Amino acid sequence: MKNILLLGATGSIGQSVLSVIDQNKDLLNLYAITLDKNISKAEEISKIFSPDYIYINCEKSFSKFNTESKNKASAINGSSDLSNLIFDDNIDIIISAVSGFAGLEATAIAAKTGKTILLANKESIVTAGEIILSSAASSGTTIIPIDSEHNAIFQCLAGEKSTNDVSKIIITASGGPFLDKKLDELKNVTKEEALKHPNWSMGSKISIDSATLVNKCLELIEAKYLFDLDEKFFELVVHPQSIIHSIVTYRDGSSICQMSNPDMRVPIAHALSNERRLNINFNEINFSGLNLSFNDFPEDRKKLENIAREVCNKGHSSGIILNAANEVAVDSFLHDEISFSQIYDVIYRTFDTTTMSNINDIESIYEKDIESRMEAKKVVKSIS
Ligand code: NAD
Ligand code: MG
Repeated sequence: MKNILLLGATGSIGQSVLSVIDQNKDLLNLYAITLDKNISKAEEISKIFSPDYIYINCEKSFSKFNTESKNKASAINGSSDLSNLIFDDNIDIIISAVSGFAGLEATAIAAKTGKTILLANKESIVTAGEIILSSAASSGTTIIPIDSEHNAIFQCLAGEKSTNDVSKIIITASGGPFLDKKLDELKNVTKEEALKHPNWSMGSKISIDSATLVNKCLELIEAKYLFDLDEKFFELVVHPQSIIHSIVTYRDGSSICQMSNPDMRVPIAHALSNERRLNINFNEINFSGLNLSFNDFPEDRKKLENIAREVCNKGHSSGIILNAANEVAVDSFLHDEISFSQIYDVIYRTFDTTTMSNINDIESIYEKDIESRMEAKKVVKSIS
């Protein structure tokens, strides 16, 4: 039996993880969960899975839970409780599924434990890739990606001794809800339109990132770190059906891809399995009549891709600046302060104006994040 700590249990990835655990109760045990505010969902999860610990990040929600809940699990809150929980010897697998930069704290601690991390929170790698990967290497922590494209690459590389024989890796992008639209047609799209992803049902931040294609750029940076390859090996390709999740081409001409219908439970089940594959209910691909298409990453979003490539090459504070600018821009769009196309302006201008610096520890990441957010908010103010 594997004991699991699920960080961000009440979110979209959290729900997919719970579904896989529920279908494999003889092998997987939900030992503890973390969440921000949604205590009614935490109650629901607790009734079904009886975790031993529930970490509630938001102070107010934590107090409310403590006074109102008849739950038998221990509710905890505060940084030292979070750290003690992550280091709890009973835990085998830590699933990093908090959304955004907020996921960094727990992921950075988890990287020091020597346990296995299943990583969904790409923002922690974009902002702290060097530090997290070096912590993981020195503590013996294994990181298995559950972002579908990275899990696909991971599966396509299985059995290879190294990445030395790889000639190219294609990261596929669905294209999001505005697949057929040029950038200049996106000025007046609404929140509702931007949040409506054609293939995946996800949290609001990543849904907007998919609509802007920032998600694919963050994934490029995530892939560079996780697979320790130069950005030149990666190509971003639009594949509207979201059936092929990534393709690895080897130098002998073989291309290996991983396919499934778009369902996050598939990469999660793969990453949660040890020697054998887990059983889950899934919707089979209907291969007869299946039409798969592939298009270039849109020319009018190349500037964004180039920034991501620059982040891959420069490292240090560049990923923190990009991530902070994007988080401020997405939040401002969701609060009706800027239009959809102004998300790009906030990113480009913040990336241009914020001073790059060397980053060698987590504290400097938090400082640079605050500074970059202030710069991004200035840009929002100037254009809204
Ligand atoms: P979501 O918004 O649906 O859920 C986020 C979860 O994080 C919630 O449980 C929330 O309570 C929790 N949370 C937020 N702040 C917290 C904090 N400070 N401490 C503890 N918990 C906190 O997000 P999501 O769509 O599930 O995405 C989660 C992560 O997975 C993101 O980094 C996203 O990029 C990545 N990801 C998601 C998908 C997907 O299909 N949803 C696919 C690939 C990667
Ligand atoms: Mg993805």
